[in-house]
Amino acid sequence: MIYRRHGRTGEKLSIVGFGGMRFKNIDDRETCVNMVLEAAKSGINYFDTAPKYFGIKSEQTFGDAFKELKKQNIQFYSSTKTFETKEPEIRREIDSQLKRLGLDTIDFYHMWSVTSLDNWKKRKREGILNTFVKLKEEGLIRHICVSSHLIGDDIKELLEENVFEAVLFGYSAYNFSVRQKAFDAIKAYDIGCVVMNPLGGGIIPQNPEIFDFIKKDKNQSIVEAALHFIFAHEKITTALVGFQDLHEIHEAVHAVETYRDIEDSLLEKIKSDATESFGTLCTGCQYCNNCPVEIPIPKFMEAYNHKILYKNDHAISDRLKWHWDITKEIAAICTECGQCEQVCTQHIPIIDRLKDIASM
Ligand code: SF4
Ligand code: SF4
Repeated sequence: MIYRRHGRTGEKLSIVGFGGMRFKNIDDRETCVNMVLEAAKSGINYFDTAPKYFGIKSEQTFGDAFKELKKQNIQFYSSTKTFETKEPEIRREIDSQLKRLGLDTIDFYHMWSVTSLDNWKKRKREGILNTFVKLKEEGLIRHICVSSHLIGDDIKELLEENVFEAVLFGYSAYNFSVRQKAFDAIKAYDIGCVVMNPLGGGIIPQNPEIFDFIKKDKNQSIVEAALHFIFAHEKITTALVGFQDLHEIHEAVHAVETYRDIEDSLLEKIKSDATESFGTLCTGCQYCNNCPVEIPIPKFMEAYNHKILYKNDHAISDRLKWHWDITKEIAAICTECGQCEQVCTQHIPIIDRLKDIASM
């Protein structure tokens, strides 16, 4: 395993982290706990969860696994998040999280999913920063972090507060173009940098032929190539992979073992080979999956990815019909309330895409 200094936190994190949002069967607790233990034994030391991953089941799973890791004296870092902004709610939440995780302190605690500067300003007005600082002083958390989906260099406004010690943000071989300005802003600060969705939320491995340009040779697996792309950025401490099963853990650990420094010129060539359209793909994060008229937005947006990737309308129709078993007419019931676009982590023009699908 390779370890990197996590900005000014000074901690040494494994360059692959375990994201707890994609377990194949969260109700099979024993298998999921064993996955965490296997990852830790392979040298992965960063474990990230959240209070709404599978309800509270992801945190509970890590809680069980952490208990075992402590028994076996295996060192690990815990990471979780909160959407709460006011002190009483945050305190209630962290109290439950500490119990679920079986910990006295959480190593990396995140202000979760900042999607716009307005959203950030609201949280700040409600006192989130002061509360996080108090939690740290009281020893309930060790490092104050933020997970951001801001684009452009909006993130500068948060980093200028000089409170955040680490950032969790999306960056991958397909969306780096829309994330580059944020990444450049982060690079200017001595803060830790963890990347979520390094495999494009599954899009890269599901479309290996589209992402062929990131492979160093035809024998390299697409997962290895996508992870090597992330590892090549020295500023990134950890690529957080949402593991579904043991095979995926082994695959990621293998990618670390085969990693050799990639020259900047090669990295630039890879980037110049990518198309602009890759930045507008849905990652399937499900944040928008709360439509008041019950449109299954992630399914439609995933189908729309196929239009972008395959550059033809039939790709959407086929995907809707054969993969999702939904009809395009459902897209037409959108009331344009805008709720989904406000929370979309990729800033996708969901309403326009639904109109496009409905009119096909
Ligand atoms: S804009 Fe349309 S798709 Fe989005 S939440 Fe509102 S009704 Fe649903
Ligand atoms: S449309 Fe946006 S919020 Fe919804 S699943 Fe896709 S990326 Fe996530």
